[in-house]
Amino acid sequence: MAKVPAYHTDSQEYPPSHRNVYHDHNDCKYGKEIKSQHRKDGAGNRPRCDECKRLG
Ligand SMILES: [Zn+2]
Repeated sequence: MAKVPAYHTDSQEYPPSHRNVYHDHNDCKYGKEIKSQHRKDGAGNRPRCDECKRLG
């Protein structure tokens, strides 16, 4: 379990649960589904992902 710099995606490939939030955890099940080529750095003005919150 590791914290990583905030990342997000704006690819339409992903459902809102993945796309409308930012992630900052390596083990987030939603963040993990974002392919590396679709990852963007930063929070992108999004709220933090609930799963990342749960992981800490
Ligand atoms: Zn997340």
